[in-house]
Amino acid sequence: MIDQKICDNIQSVLEEIRNSEKKSGRNSGSVKLCAVSKFHPKESVLAAIESSQMLFGENRIQEAFSKFSEINEIMKSSGKNLPSLHIIGSLQTNKVKKAIEISECIQSADRTELLLEVEKQCAKLDRKIKIFFELHTAEDSKSGYASGDDVVKEASNFMEGKYPHVIPAGLMTMAPFTDNEFLVHKSFESLRNLKERLNKEFPSLDISELSMGMSGDYKIAIEEGSTMVRIGTAIFGERTY
Ligand SMILES: *Cc1c(COP(=O)(O)O)cnc(C)c1O
Repeated sequence: MIDQKICDNIQSVLEEIRNSEKKSGRNSGSVKLCAVSKFHPKESVLAAIESSQMLFGENRIQEAFSKFSEINEIMKSSGKNLPSLHIIGSLQTNKVKKAIEISECIQSADRTELLLEVEKQCAKLDRKIKIFFELHTAEDSKSGYASGDDVVKEASNFMEGKYPHVIPAGLMTMAPFTDNEFLVHKSFESLRNLKERLNKEFPSLDISELSMGMSGDYKIAIEEGSTMVRIGTAIFGERTY
């Protein structure tokens, strides 16, 4: 897609986000935009950075690693700020090391085994990383903790000091791909309810982000309290897999 089109798309998505915030009685700027650049080349990311978009999401580590290493080099050599990258796709433990090197948040934390590996690799590098707990809320996806109870159990592991280099900062989900808006509302509502429950049970954990909403459903997500929408297609165009 040509650069100007990407800039225009970002502007119109941001406008739609601001409109939805207003309609839902939310403060302007309370919803962040994570631009999902998977399957799109580094040139597209650089075009988005030109229009001041600094937060990106990728779901495959190998692709993200090579793309964002190059982008970071380009930014460094011209003395500009580096973009932030969030990992949003299911993560194998053998890819954790690379994921940590390239990203500042893993939104797709979905099991104890993964968190143990994240902790181990971060401890080695003497750094910390943010994670969001991914909750499974839709029949047609397979990723995420199976239930809110499972997330609560995991959060209590944090309280016991099991993961000192990992900072739980939010929750993430994918709604079902359906025209049935009721089901989409229900999915996002269950994530918001879980956040309220965690905030009540674990007030010392700063679990504040609700990462929910994609190109097809982000307006509904904002109505339901999303603080971060993950938009790919509406910015960069269709992906060719
Ligand atoms: C690909 C992807 C997105 C973006 O989807 P679009 O429909 O292209 O906006 C958001 N979240 C996750 C987890 C994804 O894998």
